[in-house]
Amino acid sequence: MTHYRTIADLLDLHGKVAVVTGAGKGIGRSTALRLAEAGAAVVISDIDESAAHEAATLITQSNGTVAVIHADISLVADSERIARFAIENFGRLDILVNNAGIFPAAPLLEMSEALWDKVIDINLKGAVFAAQAAAKRMIAGGHGGRIINVASIDALFPTGNLTAYDASKGGLVMITRSLAKELGQYGILVNAVAPGGVNTPGARQGAAAIMGVSADTVDLSQFPVRGVLGRAADPDEMARVVLFLASDLSTYVTGSLIVADGGYLIV
Ligand code: NAD
Repeated sequence: MTHYRTIADLLDLHGKVAVVTGAGKGIGRSTALRLAEAGAAVVISDIDESAAHEAATLITQSNGTVAVIHADISLVADSERIARFAIENFGRLDILVNNAGIFPAAPLLEMSEALWDKVIDINLKGAVFAAQAAAKRMIAGGHGGRIINVASIDALFPTGNLTAYDASKGGLVMITRSLAKELGQYGILVNAVAPGGVNTPGARQGAAAIMGVSADTVDLSQFPVRGVLGRAADPDEMARVVLFLASDLSTYVTGSLIVADGGYLIV
């Protein structure tokens, strides 16, 4: 029998180093804040440098440990740079959260090759090569690790007009299982989260575009959203699921998808 560990100990990430992609805003920012609160040193990587620095300031103000790298996750070379940056700054890499993603709507009949390529390059290729770069460091460190992919409910149920996005997220769920199978021998657990509607800058922008209004005027917390709970999630509600998968609360979970959709799939 394993020795008893308290809940506080199981959630404690002191001594661990986490990389969160797209951590400047939305779900990524909330996730970075929670991982830092649990004690991890966090690398914030984002293509939006000012948002990344804003997120980092929030962590510093709460006495957390953080470093920022400006990187475009669709570039394989940037995945390598991020992993190297984590090692150079903090000496190790334990947790990768593949969160960066875009979700531009485009009906099939209007979808361009450029849009398809961009969505797949960021959401799918970016996640795969970030995982490759991180896994190399985790294996070299000999301490196992966690890779957490932020997929979407769209991997399981298409919203419509999101062909490229749905393909990227469906692919991400299968890659989660594939990588879990390959990397388990090194003690690296790979899982995914499938959020439903989350009140983030990206989602507000998407809703505003559909409504033809400015994104600043949209507050998704005020909208009825499909699902049993009838509301959009706060980004922190996704961060808490990621925290579970990053912590020792989930040592026997790998190759899994946690659906956090407020009951979207059952209405
Ligand atoms: P968001 O647009 O609010 O934030 C995304 C962040 O990723 C931004 O800071 C952006 O600058 C960054 N980013 C975009 N392209 C990048 C690139 N090429 N390289 C590095 N960083 C990049 O989005 P969000 O709603 O927080 O979404 C985060 C993840 O959650 C995405 O993968 C998205 O598909 C997924 N998701 C969101 C929802 C939702 O309702 N918001 C639902 C399901 C899944």
